[in-house]
Amino acid sequence: MGRPGWPGFTPQAETPTRAAGLARLATFVAHAAAYSRERNRVVPPHDRVSRLSPYLRHRLILEREAVAAVLDAHPRDAVDKFISEVLWRTYWKGWLELRPHIWDAYLDRRRRDRDGLAGTASVRYGEAIAGRSGIACLDAWARELIETGYLHNHARMWFASIWIFTLRLPWTLGAAFFLRHLLDGDPASNTLSWRWVAGLHTRGKHYLARAENIARYTDGRFDPKGELDEQALPLTEPLLDFTPRALRASVELATDLPSGLLLTPEDLAPEVSRLSRLGFRGVAGGWDETVGEGLDLAPPVVDFSRVAIADALARAEAHFAVPSHALDEGDWLAAAEAWALSLAVRQVVTLETPVGRWRERLEQLDARLAKHGIALVRSRRTWDSNLWPGATRGFFPFHEHARRQGHLDGLTRINDA
Ligand SMILES: Cc1cc2nc3c(=O)[nH]c(=O)nc-3n(C[C@H](O)[C@H](O)[C@H](O)COP(=O)(O)OP(=O)(O)OC[C@H]3O[C@@H](n4cnc5c(N)ncnc54)[C@H](O)[C@@H]3O)c2cc1C
Repeated sequence: MGRPGWPGFTPQAETPTRAAGLARLATFVAHAAAYSRERNRVVPPHDRVSRLSPYLRHRLILEREAVAAVLDAHPRDAVDKFISEVLWRTYWKGWLELRPHIWDAYLDRRRRDRDGLAGTASVRYGEAIAGRSGIACLDAWARELIETGYLHNHARMWFASIWIFTLRLPWTLGAAFFLRHLLDGDPASNTLSWRWVAGLHTRGKHYLARAENIARYTDGRFDPKGELDEQALPLTEPLLDFTPRALRASVELATDLPSGLLLTPEDLAPEVSRLSRLGFRGVAGGWDETVGEGLDLAPPVVDFSRVAIADALARAEAHFAVPSHALDEGDWLAAAEAWALSLAVRQVVTLETPVGRWRERLEQLDARLAKHGIALVRSRRTWDSNLWPGATRGFFPFHEHARRQGHLDGLTRINDA
């Protein structure tokens, strides 16, 4: 029998709304001081960690809000560990923003690895993603991932390590399996964490899953002694360029132009952004099937985004007091273009979409709107503008950069965007 969970914590219910995210945050805050002590326990229903990731990933709630909420309730020392974990998300985002070609290289390599899969590797792959590898812990995590859209951080690390070093399967296909099923699936955190486990991020330093750790942190639920390769060497690859590029300059908004607000599942809290006080003629948003198909997303992952977008549209309609328009049917690009034309706007404003498929879609939309003399303006949050440029090296210099920016103290409370 496991220990009883935190009172009021219902980790399995994933309602894709900002209200549900804020409620989850409020419940977590009451227990946040215990997080640093208890977060390592990897036993469902994972009530010792926040399970905020699907909300943070779609920006139904903001990193800034999570950090401010725990700081409001506890002394800084008591919640340092949680804040650091939230910053890991920002670090990975920033690291990829400064090196977008690593995402392209991942997609390219994934395509080649998928095409090249043959013989016994193809059988091992099929078994692993069906939860039939024969390694009990890996199989349980594969099923848990498919059924719940979530895995504890340690389970993700162990899964990735066993996939790469024991099953000897291509890391890119493991990352794709995660992205297909995770409700928090994210180009930066997922791709770069898989690269980190493989020894490709900090070159030559890999993460090897140890049977003893798995037994300890799963309370003995699993004990894969003798089943894992605990001696494997890190992966290598042709040298990729890690030199950070400059971020695209953030844009000043022309507040006097007739404008429409466009929402994407990359950032669904426009009412808590610098856009909140602007006037718009209308707000639009909707799921784009081609994004889901391109990444082979599982239906629950697509559904999470769909409902989250609908929730954001309803909030934006009320906040900005304008009609909302769902771009859910047919060709997303054509629907977005038609919506902008129907409003006779001069600019379409959207919250920044980081590296990934949605950014690519917006680049295509940008080209289409330009033909009508309509500008697509991307507004980047202050949190991102301040923190992403610090992801030039490892996490610890980044953490120091964040501290110097004042994001780890009371400033987060007054920084509105
Ligand atoms: C191989 C692998 C793949 C991963 N893929 C993703 C992914 O696609 N999307 C994703 O959001 N996270 C990913 N992570 C990071 C991490 O596992 C999850 O963010 C975390 O487990 C989410 O659970 P939680 O909300 O209960 O986390 P908590 O422990 O409660 O942490 C609070 C928040 O901090 C952030 N966070 C915590 N740990 C990390 C981390 N190591 N890296 C980045 N952010 C972190 C998340 O936003 C999380 O919600 C991956 C980790 C590994 C090892």
